Amino acid sequence: MEPDDLCPRPEFAPPPRTQPMVPGIHPAVVYRCESPGHADRLLGGEEEGHVYARDGHPNADWLAEKCRLLHRADRAAICGSGMAALTAAVLSHVGQGDAVVAADALYGRSAQLLSKELPRFGVACKTIDACDLDAVSKACASGAKLLIAETISNPLLRVADVRALAEIATSHGVRLLIDNTFAGPAVFRPLEFGADLVVESITKIMNGHSDVVLGLVCGRDEAWPDVEQTISTWGLSSSPFDCWLAQRGLGTLALRVDRANANALAAARMLETHPAASSVRYPGLESHPDHAVAKRQFGERFGTMVAFDLPGGTEVAAAFIAAAGRIAFAPSLGDLSTTLSHPESTSHRGLTPQQRASLGISGGTIRLSMGIESEAAVLEAVAEGLSVLNSRPENSQRGK
Ligand SMILES: *Cc1c(COP(=O)(O)O)cnc(C)c1O
Repeated sequence: MEPDDLCPRPEFAPPPRTQPMVPGIHPAVVYRCESPGHADRLLGGEEEGHVYARDGHPNADWLAEKCRLLHRADRAAICGSGMAALTAAVLSHVGQGDAVVAADALYGRSAQLLSKELPRFGVACKTIDACDLDAVSKACASGAKLLIAETISNPLLRVADVRALAEIATSHGVRLLIDNTFAGPAVFRPLEFGADLVVESITKIMNGHSDVVLGLVCGRDEAWPDVEQTISTWGLSSSPFDCWLAQRGLGTLALRVDRANANALAAARMLETHPAASSVRYPGLESHPDHAVAKRQFGERFGTMVAFDLPGGTEVAAAFIAAAGRIAFAPSLGDLSTTLSHPESTSHRGLTPQQRASLGISGGTIRLSMGIESEAAVLEAVAEGLSVLNSRPENSQRGK
């Protein structure tokens, strides 16, 4: 054989003789078929095995199986992003002439998908306040395929009563789809409270290292049309390397969430008594409007997100962000380190000031995503930011 001919030969690595402790990465796009009959059985779904990576690959399978077990789901599939997962879940359930009912405080891109993109395909979207159960019931009664809400809303951290939403949805023959990104399976498993489908942005808490964009859709058998077909046909699939990284991230999910939850509660309690902050929102605080629902659904962990207001608006928020320099202003969530976001200039910048006000967001609203630093380090970093505000006369006189 000419040396040159070695290069284009397919690589056939022999299976390892002993079991590696870490799963391999399988970047192969295509898999070898033994015969036309074999190809036919694989592609027809009569025999298990991969043929083409957009349809599925081992790294996505392994990650999906872990997520399926975490959520006690019948089915699970991995998508290239959280938005891809939501798109797959929705597109596999709706067609022209259908309608969906969606919470009015959804993640920005989710709201855009449902209220701007779906109508272009003849699917109507009715928005409601997911905490107003009468409004939810009325909207579902006029016919819908899906009721869509988030476990914990952004940035005000309202908690959806998933059991109540599931009862309403079921009574009207509507499927309940919950975006559980802000909680994650270590805090809450919506399927156990009656949801039919769950989507999560693995990008956030699940992977936990801010180095992967991926999404999860999982659910019950009876609410699972061929979601895998939708994922492959619309091109919503995932990359093997990203799945491998996310599986690695999942290894520490329980530990990370434990620490970040404890930090969140500590920060919320500190902010609640601090004269420079107002309207502290954390589902674990007795003062939170949904504390009872949160307790019933989450048990002892109330999530890793904390929001609060700085009276004085954008200017005061900017001063806090500058002074709290140890906390990165990074408009995402779920990183190893504590980060902060300013909804007015990031996630909610597309809304009018009136719309923001009606959601309870001001220029002074700050949202923290707690990391896994020591509690002392986190509290010190937050206090550092607040200390410059404290010295402002308009704040120090406010009291609490
Ligand atoms: C980030 C996020 C998404 C979208 O996930 P991507 O992985 O960024 O596509 C959806 N819902 C919520 C609540 C999110 O925070």
